[in-house]
Amino acid sequence: MHYVSTREGKAAFSAAQAIVRGISEEGGLFVPAFFPHMGLDEIGAMVQKSYQERACVILGKFLTDFSAEQIRKMVEAAYGSGFDAPEVVPVREIDKGRAVAELWHGPTLAFKDMALQLLPHLMTASAAQVGERREIVILAATSGDTGKAALEGFADVKGTQCVVFYPKEGVSQAQRLQMVTQEGKNTHVIAVRGNFDDAQAGVKRIFGDPEARDWMNQQGKVFSSANSINWGRLAPQLVYYFSAYVDQVRQGRIELGDELNFVVPTGNFGNILAAVYARNMGLPIGRLICASNRNRVLADFLKDGVYDARRAFYQTTSPSMDILISSNLERMLFEISGREVAQVNEWMESLRTKGRYEVSGQALDALKALIWGGWAGDQAVSETISQTWKRWGYLTDPHTAVALNVHRQYVEATGDERQAVIMSTASPFKFGKTVLEAIEGGVQAQDDFECCRFLSQKTGWVLPKAIAELPGKPVRHRAECEPGDMMDAVKRAMEE
Ligand SMILES: *Cc1c(COP(=O)(O)O)cnc(C)c1O
Repeated sequence: MHYVSTREGKAAFSAAQAIVRGISEEGGLFVPAFFPHMGLDEIGAMVQKSYQERACVILGKFLTDFSAEQIRKMVEAAYGSGFDAPEVVPVREIDKGRAVAELWHGPTLAFKDMALQLLPHLMTASAAQVGERREIVILAATSGDTGKAALEGFADVKGTQCVVFYPKEGVSQAQRLQMVTQEGKNTHVIAVRGNFDDAQAGVKRIFGDPEARDWMNQQGKVFSSANSINWGRLAPQLVYYFSAYVDQVRQGRIELGDELNFVVPTGNFGNILAAVYARNMGLPIGRLICASNRNRVLADFLKDGVYDARRAFYQTTSPSMDILISSNLERMLFEISGREVAQVNEWMESLRTKGRYEVSGQALDALKALIWGGWAGDQAVSETISQTWKRWGYLTDPHTAVALNVHRQYVEATGDERQAVIMSTASPFKFGKTVLEAIEGGVQAQDDFECCRFLSQKTGWVLPKAIAELPGKPVRHRAECEPGDMMDAVKRAMEE
């Protein structure tokens, strides 16, 4: 299997090259040259397999420069004791015809772990494959969740260091504690005296600074990123669509070959894109339902084909979907244009210069036939959390509630009542305050931790260890810097 860029289309790259580079030279994203076909017999053979075995089958089709043994070792290291559910991604029926796939049993209690627990292993194996001997230093700016998931993934992975910058005044108390108590000799967490944009701009500056690169090279190190557009983050996400499908077969909810709908809460279009890829490989998927929050740029796009990022940005109760530029959508555009790089370049150029682009004709028809878009605001989300608890005794985080709400709208609008799996992207305890407020109709609690304790007492749902232990954990990272001094902070971190 080789990979091509969405903006060049011809040059062939190996999986290892795509993962080490992250993004192509012209700014395009790496996509597989074709989608390997999985017949029903091959899909059916996964019913009795473990999650790890299923992962080996799917990843083996795409990561052809690695041996089956190498892939097996990476998969076992990623989806082992760090997950608190033996199924890795449990699929539970919450209501007739509706199941949830819980993507949040990893160490940081959110779906980013599905990819970021595997990426470090893919990254080091890929570096070895392409002859890169320097130590890989992952550099990231975070507004909260991704930074912690990257730190957990890279902690103590040989041949890597992980440096995360967060805005000193821009993350929640729980998020800050999660990061500053991070264990692992190769992890570095630094507070930037500024906001998230300052931190992100600083990281971009370092990536583009030749002096910084030289200094790193002299130290035998090289920078890399754990960005969500990296193929090494997308590939692991294909696995759980296959896994959820065969679990629904195993549970007798569908027959092998029946079409299943998936509902995906998304901002960057990463999670749902993996479902599109799984369908292209032959997984019997009916409709994909794309669920947005009030930052509904995707829902609007799926209605009339106009992608317009020039709009107000809202902070919502589902912050991990507060996004106006969906970077992974470019891979979708590549497919619906019939893999026409000239067309993709035109759209992306229009987005860069005008903040908008428009898709029409066949491409729009193809898109709408496959994906239905909807959105839910904070009030609707709160009501959905409350109803889901009252009717079915199921606690749901606000991102998952966006999906549950949009699925209701979808059924009403189309009458399509086929079996559906809702992708659940975070533990309710990760957003304990919002969830408690929704089911109690208001809270009086000191902080996020107290909300989580109340939530656990009230519902009988067990407080996850990762949260229960947090207040007692020793602080290991106290470094701070000015936005203009971030490279010096990296140098100091490398000398620790
Ligand atoms: C990142 C994230 C999402 C959105 O994922 P996309 O990559 O935008 O598809 C949804 N929910 C949670 C909890 C997340 O952390």
